[in-house]
Amino acid sequence: MTTDKKASNNWRAATRSVRGGTARSGFCETSEAIFMNSGYVYETAAEAEASFDGSGPERFVYSRFANPTVGMFEERLALIEGAQYCRATASGMSAVWNALAASTKAGGRVVGSRALFGSCEFILTTLLPRFGVETELVDGTDKDAWEKALSKPADAVFLETPSNPTLEVIDIAFISELAHKAGAKVIVDNVFATPILQKPMELGADIVVYSATKHIDGQGRCLGGAILFNDKEWHDEHLTTFLRHTGPSMSPFNAWVLLKGLETLSLRVDQHIRNATALAEFLTEQPQVSRVLYPGLKSHPQHELAMKQMSGRGGGLIAIELAGGKKAAFSLLDNLKLIDISNNLGDAKSLATHPWTTTHQRVPAEDKVVMGITEGMLRLSVGLEDIDDLKEDLLAALAV
Ligand SMILES: *Cc1c(COP(=O)(O)O)cnc(C)c1O
Repeated sequence: MTTDKKASNNWRAATRSVRGGTARSGFCETSEAIFMNSGYVYETAAEAEASFDGSGPERFVYSRFANPTVGMFEERLALIEGAQYCRATASGMSAVWNALAASTKAGGRVVGSRALFGSCEFILTTLLPRFGVETELVDGTDKDAWEKALSKPADAVFLETPSNPTLEVIDIAFISELAHKAGAKVIVDNVFATPILQKPMELGADIVVYSATKHIDGQGRCLGGAILFNDKEWHDEHLTTFLRHTGPSMSPFNAWVLLKGLETLSLRVDQHIRNATALAEFLTEQPQVSRVLYPGLKSHPQHELAMKQMSGRGGGLIAIELAGGKKAAFSLLDNLKLIDISNNLGDAKSLATHPWTTTHQRVPAEDKVVMGITEGMLRLSVGLEDIDDLKEDLLAALAV
């Protein structure tokens, strides 16, 4: 394998997305190869021994530890994010779980924002406490609540911004400062913003996690996740142990799909945002829609912070509230002809979902209300279709 890492450090963002991490085999292929193998062979028994005792040169020994195609994906995403390290995982949730598990232990404490992706909320409220970790959830936009929660020592802070599905925007720089004083590592779930809009580590966060299933693939093909960070010691002492021995490894085939996804990520995200901005403005004008939540609109409660923290743009997701409640929300979904009903997001195809009854169905009603989720709320993941087709589809479905 040959790779020119020195060149990649000087490349600008667009070049890194297309070429970063490419390592060619002896066959000199243009596009990255899929190394769909679990194991590797040794010339001699002594070479195998040296690989295991660490005295030999670094090489691949088993795909649970490292694989050339997965390695190319990790290096390209690290270059895009501006992080020293990236470890790929089988799904976004395995990235979230391993980042948290490698940051705390029994007797430890984790503070999180309340408006979280359903499974992240489950890890914080149910799984971590089962292992003896104390957890506390706070309103992500309430600075006093963060100050109070972080007046006591903690191992980690976990937050998602913008959040799902209400698109709450949380101040990463403010919380990172508080968290570091409390001795906590800050883990940001950056799925909604993508590395194109938001670089949490530049704002003080320590670890960034992705569901690569979303915009990084962006075409509904496979699951994947990633953990990005700069702390070598955390990697060597904690994360590597977790990954090696628990095995949430990404498949080389998925790594290849996601690697190709990274080549067009910024182009796609730009177009998602153009469409979402136009659609958010359009929806504001519809009488059946009582509320439009989009960080790019001035009416969004944290619009100013969103613009500062997210490169001046609002992202590709919109939440709307229908005046007619659940009945109107279901009617709108059932009458869409182009936009699909689906709980996925970040896809080339526009997707709509009713969070109350799908992604957040398990969350008790009173907690949904606290999170700002209502029965009349729909989440729209705006795709790459022609904006006029999207507007016509929504207009026709709203009119029924
Ligand atoms: C989808 C998602 C996850 C989980 O990712 P998977 O790839 O489905 O495991 C975590 N956080 C957010 C914000 C998500 O949207």
